Amino acid sequence: MLNFDRQPPQSDTDRPLPLKRTPTLGRLRAMITSPNLIGIHTHFFGGHTVPHEEPECKACIKGVPYRWHGWVSAIQAANRLHFIFEFTAQAGEVFQTYFEAHQTLRGCIFDAERMHHRRNGRVILQVKPGDLAQLALPEPPDLEACLRIIWQLPAEPTTEATKKNGQRALHVNNADHFLADRLGLPAPKKTKAS
Ligand SMILES: [Zn+2]
Repeated sequence: MLNFDRQPPQSDTDRPLPLKRTPTLGRLRAMITSPNLIGIHTHFFGGHTVPHEEPECKACIKGVPYRWHGWVSAIQAANRLHFIFEFTAQAGEVFQTYFEAHQTLRGCIFDAERMHHRRNGRVILQVKPGDLAQLALPEPPDLEACLRIIWQLPAEPTTEATKKNGQRALHVNNADHFLADRLGLPAPKKTKAS
């Protein structure tokens, strides 16, 4: 007996997406799929981007400065690739202003390019609302869980301090599935909700 689905399974839509930044050459045009952005201070420490943890993390103790980064999920116009877009605080303000005007970022079309097309040049971001009715946008991923995988962090907040700071608990089950997927392990067994 063949059981056809009308929708791909949840685990496929939850797969961590590739991370992209504003290109040095050319321009990135995409439509945002997540309802809002998420952001955190990060350090460049030990050759990697790592999130800063309150009140003081290993990188802070070594005197490494931190800067804010934000992320949204988006569909690239050129090839329909669903990806996570990383940006700095200055570009984040543009998204924040859009969010305040529209109460969501989902459906926002943005063009991102670098001033003078220089490596690490200032990002010029232009935003405008897209026509959501014309497009079937995919469901956004769990951005926090995707970032935890990118940073190779455990699925749960590791310290009491982060819990006390009101960080919401992650979807641990989903994160287990992402990890299993990434590492090529069998997915953890689902416990059926009654
Ligand atoms: Zn830190």
